[in-house]
Amino acid sequence: METNKIPIERKNKLDSLYEAFSIIGDDTYVYLCDMKYDCSRWSKDLVDAFGLPGEYMYGAGDIWEEHIHPDDRKVFHEGIQCIFSGKSAGHDMQYRAKKKNGEYVVCTCRGIVINDEQGQPEYFGGAIRNHDQQGHIDSLTGLRNQYGFFEDVKRHINNKTPMRVCIMGIGRLTEINEMYGYGVGNKVLQYFGRYLMDHVGNRGGTYRLDGAKFAIIAETQSFREIKKSYEAIRRRFRQGLHIDDVFIMVELNAGTISLEDFATDTQTIYSCLNYAYQDSKLKKHGDMVEFLNHLKGDKRNQTEMIYAIRESINQNFKGFYLLYQPIIDSDTEEVKGAEALLRWRDEKYGMVPPDEFIPVLERDPLFPKLGEWILRTAMEDTKEIQKIIPEFMIHINLSYAQLERIDFTDTVWNVVESVKFEPEYLCLEVTERCKLLDMDLLENVLVSLRAGGIHVALDDFGTGYSSVSLLKSMYFDTIKIDKIFVQRIEENEKERALLNNLSQIALLYSGEVCAEGIETRCEGDVLKTYGIQKFQGYYYSKPIELEKFLGHLNTDEGTSCFKKNEYNAD
Ligand code: C2E
Ligand code: CA
Ligand code: CA
Repeated sequence: METNKIPIERKNKLDSLYEAFSIIGDDTYVYLCDMKYDCSRWSKDLVDAFGLPGEYMYGAGDIWEEHIHPDDRKVFHEGIQCIFSGKSAGHDMQYRAKKKNGEYVVCTCRGIVINDEQGQPEYFGGAIRNHDQQGHIDSLTGLRNQYGFFEDVKRHINNKTPMRVCIMGIGRLTEINEMYGYGVGNKVLQYFGRYLMDHVGNRGGTYRLDGAKFAIIAETQSFREIKKSYEAIRRRFRQGLHIDDVFIMVELNAGTISLEDFATDTQTIYSCLNYAYQDSKLKKHGDMVEFLNHLKGDKRNQTEMIYAIRESINQNFKGFYLLYQPIIDSDTEEVKGAEALLRWRDEKYGMVPPDEFIPVLERDPLFPKLGEWILRTAMEDTKEIQKIIPEFMIHINLSYAQLERIDFTDTVWNVVESVKFEPEYLCLEVTERCKLLDMDLLENVLVSLRAGGIHVALDDFGTGYSSVSLLKSMYFDTIKIDKIFVQRIEENEKERALLNNLSQIALLYSGEVCAEGIETRCEGDVLKTYGIQKFQGYYYSKPIELEKFLGHLNTDEGTSCFKKNEYNAD
């Protein structure tokens, strides 16, 4: 092995070969060594990350060896010796290497030897993949993956270039996999990715996100243009694909968002996009849905608001607070509990009700943190109320994405323990949206909560179409009849009959029935005759702050304090 200085023409050759190597080595570090001079060129990213002397190095093998974990050095050393002595034509190994900051990362290193005209080793080149660094390419479709997508969205935000982002996905991919096997499913994904790239992506970037979802970033396109392209793609896939021996019809879903101003971040955009995508899938039969950036009628930018709300979560839940609405015993009209209802307030946006942000954020990675804060705050507040009414029951709403998390029950029990809350006074409300979850999973969660004494309630009963089937498969301690059924009973006999029947079904399947949205004394009087045990509504009180709640309880009327014939008790 010679260590003479490399002549200029050899250096130029090394550079041009190195350039070729680095093109094909996308996403990995590359290196190339002129073995006659033991002079190599290594990627700048690697040199920076591991603190090597420079891009060009003599005796790079020895230098690199210094960075390899002592336990892995021997194998590496022998491998390199075999290569330089001509005994082996390449290597493929894994070892730990030390980064500049002292931390070891696992690297896969693959290299080959290129011989000269005489068959003597001339170059040794290859790629090092640092497993610490996420790859940006999806191996199935060859498209940039989720990490690449996030990176590119971020670049657009930083450069302030307007963009339209779009998620398109294949409906029922799981069914395709189950019916025809993963091989066929993979080919559908490959075909779709290719098709997207050819038909829309060539004006921007095409990405494969998780599962059946793909994304497009287009620099400027109106909703009409992108929708037109989407409809054309949809028609193509509805005609069906011949894959192997099968013929498959493919249905699509799509959500999109346009961004012109940039007080936002990638995760906010992703949550808004996903919300639009879910809407397309669940409510719009696959029509493309645009995430509307203007809140009902006014000019506030919703993406910016969602961004501000996410920031609040990160700033120790600044601006979030809970209101409590009493739950009354229909017989004695005494307060038995309350429902905790979330609010967010901010100087710019004022008070924002939960309907405007929970549906968008419930799948956001930050939501579990907020969910835990709600649980903890509500239980801590309730302990104050329990000093006056010891058996006071607190109702807390859950979003279905919370239930989906594998650590959900652990979180609940941790909070219950750390607050020292009696579980039998905690009632968790789930809505019929939880039907979107896997039923076995939901049942497991509910069973394990109930086994520890926690109550569970089915919220908004009657608004979904398969409520009765849900009741047949799962037990709820309480069923809450939605307010839309209560609100018209005074004027209409049919409405009364409907409500009566709903109550009877609810009574049949649960221990207790609560009616929501009671606004007048007369409504309460009618409901009592149907055997409903609990009432909640503006007639008793709107949702109010804890201090007001305690203030009411401390009046002479005690637990019957909300028994007022006064609309808006706050
Ligand atoms: P929900 O669980 O059905 O809560 C009852 C809603 O009805 C509340 O609206 C309450 O203010 C309203 N309401 C109560 N009595 C009356 C009445 O007599 N008349 C009328 N018209 N409305 C009445 P709010 O507070 O705006 O909450 C809306 C929804 O947001 C809730 O519906 C719930 O689904 C969700 N939500 C609220 N807080 C949370 C939370 O902490 N976590 C989760 N996941 N969802 C929450
Ligand atoms: Ca509720
Ligand atoms: Ca409800």
